[in-house]
Amino acid sequence: MSGILYLCATPIGNLSDMSARLIDTLSSVDIIAAEDTRQTVKLLNHLNIKKPQISYFEHNIHEKGIQIINMLKEGKNIALVSDAGTPAISDPGEDLVRLCAKENIRVVPVPGPVAAINALVVSALPTGRFSFEGFLPMNKNSRTERLEEIQKDKKTLIFYEAPHKLRRTLGDLLKYLGNRQVTLCRELTKIHEEIIRTTLEDAQTLYSDDRPPKGEFVIVVAPSDKEEAAEFWQNMSLEEHVEFYIFQGMSEKDAMKMAAKDRKIAKRDVYDAIKKH
Ligand code: SAM
Repeated sequence: MSGILYLCATPIGNLSDMSARLIDTLSSVDIIAAEDTRQTVKLLNHLNIKKPQISYFEHNIHEKGIQIINMLKEGKNIALVSDAGTPAISDPGEDLVRLCAKENIRVVPVPGPVAAINALVVSALPTGRFSFEGFLPMNKNSRTERLEEIQKDKKTLIFYEAPHKLRRTLGDLLKYLGNRQVTLCRELTKIHEEIIRTTLEDAQTLYSDDRPPKGEFVIVVAPSDKEEAAEFWQNMSLEEHVEFYIFQGMSEKDAMKMAAKDRKIAKRDVYDAIKKH
């Protein structure tokens, strides 16, 4: 019979946030798969637990994933831990869980801290609906695309960011989302925990080259309050939409192309629908 993969959440700063179940699980499994074995050994030493570890991090997930699955198939119980917080949340784990699901191997969560959720609940922003955005892409095009995609999102937005990239990210958020309320949650659960509730515009003045941001940050941004402008074609049939552009002086081909673009559908679909009538 296969073993079990335990997804073990570990503290994001304060070691007292370790649950009794986390300690029990780490003590009872056969192997611990860790994002950084040096980091996890500190936690294990603190708990006086000695266990074989296997490293499982971003750049070896393919090869190590197969190894871990084989060990689970041999009946070994394995705990997956990341450097801090919950595995598979902006941390390795997602692929391994998918592999387990494919192989019918049981996956058990051992719940605990997640920086995003703790930032959301102290943000004083709406908690009913939220979107976890993790780290924004670094590639310029993908980043712009993502920011444009979330511009009209009516949910509270949660971002992770490294301190040295915080100022750039706050600048981009102001540029694409406008001047909204923002809560910066710094060093959650640690000695220098700080919750700053401000606006994206005022947040630009918080840090400078002489006073760079330090520590770990979660950025929580208020939802968009913009009502979506009704599109002029919304009450038109597809034919009327195309005719509208033809009436404006476009060729039938260009009119179909424009209607397809407005409706975010394939040109071929407009063509087929119009030609059928
Ligand atoms: N798996 C983790 C979790 O459950 O939250 C997240 C890991 S991700 C690689 C690291 C990011 O989480 C940091 O860059 C920061 O944005 C956020 N983070 C982690 N610990 C934090 C803390 N104590 N205070 C504020 N943000 C934190």
